[in-house]
Amino acid sequence: MADSHGIFRKVNPVWEKVLGFPAEDLLSRPFIEFVHPSDFAHTQVELEKLREPGHQTQNLLNRYRCKDGSYRWLQWNAVNDPQGSLAYVSAVDVTDQQEIERLKEQFISTASHELRTPVTAINASLKLLASGLTGTIPLESARMVQIAERNSERLIRLVNDMLDIDQLQAGRMSFRDERVDQSSAVEAAIAEAAPLFDQADIHVETRLLPGTFVTADPDRLSQVMTNLLSNAAKFSPMSSLVEVSVEEVGDSARIVVRDHGAGISPSFRSKVFEKFAQAERGPGPHAGSGLGLSISKQFVQQMGGEIGFETPRDGGTRFFVLLPIVDRQAANAESGAEATRGPKTDLSR
Ligand code: ADP
Repeated sequence: MADSHGIFRKVNPVWEKVLGFPAEDLLSRPFIEFVHPSDFAHTQVELEKLREPGHQTQNLLNRYRCKDGSYRWLQWNAVNDPQGSLAYVSAVDVTDQQEIERLKEQFISTASHELRTPVTAINASLKLLASGLTGTIPLESARMVQIAERNSERLIRLVNDMLDIDQLQAGRMSFRDERVDQSSAVEAAIAEAAPLFDQADIHVETRLLPGTFVTADPDRLSQVMTNLLSNAAKFSPMSSLVEVSVEEVGDSARIVVRDHGAGISPSFRSKVFEKFAQAERGPGPHAGSGLGLSISKQFVQQMGGEIGFETPRDGGTRFFVLLPIVDRQAANAESGAEATRGPKTDLSR
């Protein structure tokens, strides 16, 4: 329990056990004094908010000093009483989870950088072999080379995803701010994903709003769209329907990708956007890394938008991306363009 000066009034015995300080020490000074200097600023901001009556702090992370001078990562939750004079605070020691997270990030960084060059070289060599420039190869070997080439391309995609994650983590990825016609971007992404839909005989129905412009990095937006569309293709049954639409919601434009697949199970819903998260499933054709949606979420957030999904009652999944509209042109005064794309047709042609 803490007062409005940010001083603990009462602590339970676990505080003494975890931090090593006797309770008197913890009760004698404002608790911000125990916070690591690098975490001071954001903790202070949250403390100010906690002065507002009824405010709730959720999952605030910071490092807290122990008696021996070391720091432990604590995850805080707090709720203020209606008068704003006392806060009820709980903290969980998440030091071990933070360390695992740090090791995971380090692994992604090292592995992606170390793998990039050899994987690219393997792929280039296989392409050369397959082209026949180095001599004719027997039919059976050519088939093997083709399989190897396809798999090396999969590895390149994985390494590229890992490099993206690494750059995002390190805050090194730059984003362009461009005026993008949301519907054109969606149309281009559908054309690019056409082979995936054709393979599974999936119909793509579009309902677009040409002339609605958002601010986005076109390449990153296209990556997000490609991910949503390829997931829709991967997780849809053969010969089913995927609906893609662009609509206005207040000051934002919303892209919706709706499939009629098995949907996302309740137990997996909270993990969908986590790194390397994939729902349990048996061996099947759904090759992937579990990185696509984690990258997509970070991209969309960096572009000032929001990404999420809903699970409609009648099955399947509806993923959406919301981006703030910068301007609208006359074209969308009409009721919106509609098109149906059947299998074996390609919008790009
Ligand atoms: P990947 O597709 O490479 O596995 P993602 O991050 O794009 O990685 O997706 C993570 C997981 O979320 C998928 O493995 C799948 O279990 C689930 N998922 C994503 N999109 C859908 C969808 N449209 N329908 C059902 N499950 C999905």
